[in-house]
Amino acid sequence: TPYHPRPDRYDAVPEGWFRRCGRTGLLLPALSLGCWHNFGDAGTDPRQLPESDFHANAQAMLFTAFDHGITHFDLANNYGPQPGAAELRVGRILREDFRGYRDELIISSKAGYTMWPGPYGDWGSRKYLLASLDQSLDRLGLDYVDIFYSHRPDPETPLEETMGALDTAVRSGKALYAAISNYSGEQTLEARRVCEREGFIKPILHQPRYSMLDRWIEPELLPVTGELGMGVIAFCPLAQGLLTPKYLGGIPDDSRVKQAAGFLTEDRVTPELIEKLQKLNAIAEERSQSLAQLALSWALRDTRMTSLIIGASRPSQIEANVEAAEKLAFTDSELLAIETVLAE
Ligand code: NDP
Repeated sequence: TPYHPRPDRYDAVPEGWFRRCGRTGLLLPALSLGCWHNFGDAGTDPRQLPESDFHANAQAMLFTAFDHGITHFDLANNYGPQPGAAELRVGRILREDFRGYRDELIISSKAGYTMWPGPYGDWGSRKYLLASLDQSLDRLGLDYVDIFYSHRPDPETPLEETMGALDTAVRSGKALYAAISNYSGEQTLEARRVCEREGFIKPILHQPRYSMLDRWIEPELLPVTGELGMGVIAFCPLAQGLLTPKYLGGIPDDSRVKQAAGFLTEDRVTPELIEKLQKLNAIAEERSQSLAQLALSWALRDTRMTSLIIGASRPSQIEANVEAAEKLAFTDSELLAIETVLAE
């Protein structure tokens, strides 16, 4: 049966769900869906799903997301495995199942990490970024992406060149907005200065890592993006799943730690971390939330945070995580209790 989005999908979202991306016209949902894991090749899934089931799960995740007001899907050239596989699959689902809804969707892609062999498939040159964007559009089956990122700063390429490539991407109509990811506060400031000086279209959004377990942006980036009027969209807000109830009692077989590909490895799950997670879980329970919901509500507490990109391995996680946006208020004593645990 073809997919029909829920007619009440925008009426049912939590209050304040759509948040303004800095001082721009772009509104993003409080939670966006990332397609880094679970949208590439079926072979690496720890559940050993056959391709047809894996695809059905990917479809169901995008449908569930869209039905819950998640209008933004985050991709990059290299998401897979294999690199490019996630864009191919999401492209197929957009083509087959989301026909007629392109203008209700924000689709992002990026270039900056290793994508193809040789000197032109990596980092931040004009050559790489613009060729990669064309490839991404091919795989996605789209005329344009909404947001195109420089995925990481390139210490060897002049910022003028990388920012100039983003400017070209937007002026050519292949992207609507330019953005950056993994740049430091200082690099962000410098990137915007370069755009100002050269008359380039400026990046409007920054995508850093941020969660209860990694708070570098609080002193180093948020003051800069706040001042510049840039939006911020955080990745790994659940620390790849560590900030969920799933690791409290050991490492389940169907968790990301058990995936063949990826960066989350068993040695991250230390007894010290489990102890911390248990204490956070107790705070979550007092707020009648799950640990995952607490982590998401907490990461959205600062209004300079535009959106969080959650990953998911099944639709039920998306449904549960959306509820976090219904409980964004924290008492001072809750915040203090969280600070105390995180500082331990
Ligand atoms: P998260 O920190 O949100 O981790 C997501 C994982 O947590 C899920 O895949 C699932 O893993 C688990 N999980 C989620 N919800 C629940 C729940 N309610 N209960 C139990 N477990 C849950 O984010 P990701 O690490 O997936 O990153 C999100 C996105 O950010 C990526 O898809 C990508 O788009 C972007 N990103 C960008 C980067 C950049 O450099 N710009 C780098 C990394 C990511 P499980 O398999 O264990 O169920």
